Amino acid sequence: MTLPSAEEVRRRVEDLIAQHWTPEITVRAWWALLAANGWASPTLPEAAGGLGWPGDLAGAVTATLTRSNVLGPPGGLGLTLAAPTIARYGTAGQTASWVPSILDGTAGWCQLFSEPQAGSDLAGLQTRAERDGDDWVITGQKVWTSTAQTADLAMLIARTDPGAPKHQGITYFVIAMDQPGIEVRPLREMTGKAVFNEVFLDGARVPAANVVGELNGGWAVANATLNFERAATSHGGASFSPALPGSRAGDLDRPAASFVGLAGPISGAAVGRRHLTMLRDLADASGRRDDPHVRQALAAVQIDYELARLRAWRSRAVPSSRTGFEGNLAKVFNSGSVAHARDAANLLLGADGQLWESDGTAGVFQEMTVFSPAPPIYAGSDQIQRNLLGERALGLPKEPGPSPETPFRDLPKN
Ligand SMILES: Cc1cc2nc3c(=O)[nH]c(=O)nc-3n(C[C@H](O)[C@H](O)[C@H](O)COP(=O)(O)OP(=O)(O)OC[C@H]3O[C@@H](n4cnc5c(N)ncnc54)[C@H](O)[C@@H]3O)c2cc1C
Repeated sequence: MTLPSAEEVRRRVEDLIAQHWTPEITVRAWWALLAANGWASPTLPEAAGGLGWPGDLAGAVTATLTRSNVLGPPGGLGLTLAAPTIARYGTAGQTASWVPSILDGTAGWCQLFSEPQAGSDLAGLQTRAERDGDDWVITGQKVWTSTAQTADLAMLIARTDPGAPKHQGITYFVIAMDQPGIEVRPLREMTGKAVFNEVFLDGARVPAANVVGELNGGWAVANATLNFERAATSHGGASFSPALPGSRAGDLDRPAASFVGLAGPISGAAVGRRHLTMLRDLADASGRRDDPHVRQALAAVQIDYELARLRAWRSRAVPSSRTGFEGNLAKVFNSGSVAHARDAANLLLGADGQLWESDGTAGVFQEMTVFSPAPPIYAGSDQIQRNLLGERALGLPKEPGPSPETPFRDLPKN
């Protein structure tokens, strides 16, 4: 495959914008154009609707869209997690059924993994799937399910063989969210939003054809999804678009231009260039740019930003330098960089940091402050990433626990 230069990519994206971006174009029509050109997710293989491009060319698409002040691709859990997982583990038929509507944003997705007693110990999940004719019937409870209230489809992991060891009796399904056996209850967060939800599954049905990967082989598929999620944390988690994908969210037929510049449903999840500019502006406005404490705090934020950029560049430009643990590292570093930006902002804002929209930055740092406990938790907590790095990357001894061969039904449970 002959790849275009980054300059050529920029020119092609600018041409599309010049030809089609108008104040009236709808989200649906704009996303359809991005998908038709392969620009919704250029790193996906061509067979899955991408272009098979390396990350730096995909980055040129995103950077051109951002710089041109137009709406980016759909984003969210479908584009970031489901599409690459299905492209890797799904059949050709599954890829053809599910990925196109992710790329053009006509389907919204959520991730039904965590349970009240299975977060860090995700393989301890108790939601069960029982075969009934051509369907599986799902019973259990999930929690912290981001965007479940607007999702059309979900990545679901459930226990299909309680007699197998806990990592071996799990299957990965794609389930329709709009059905009688599923109840979604939003959870209000201290940001004031209700991004995540409790999801109760009581006799919900999934066709047998919706198993992704092998029956009872869902742990490997779920880990692929988790790796895509961790890798994405360095640029803002699942990079939610301000316009939500899917038929249930109600954004598709609104003008795309009305979403430009708005924050997505989760903001403050990662530090971007605009945060650096805002922090410098706050330092200037407060007349404290020469204060050594302020300088030190701003330098810490800038250093984090540059390191994240260089790490991403190295893993894209020098594939041989990849260790396979980039996602775990990105996830842990991101938590620290959000905390540094939060602290620098509050050093500058003082008591105003407690007042939403008091500083002319439209509540950006106030939201980051109340959201900042989340990055060390989601996509697997930082402690769990450190365990994984210790055990798998450094070869340190595993945590003590029951034999991995113990059947799930014989393990002690809360
Ligand atoms: C903003 C946000 C969005 C989320 N979105 C989703 C979603 O869309 N879908 C989904 O399925 N889940 C989602 N989650 C859930 C998330 O994946 C879990 O919260 C996370 O895996 C931690 O699980 P837990 O909350 O059950 O904490 P627990 O597992 O109960 O952990 C509690 C504490 O104990 C520590 N701990 C636990 N085990 C160990 C150990 N072995 N060694 C050292 N420390 C340990 C943890 O690090 C943590 O500090 C989301 C979470 C957040 C905050």
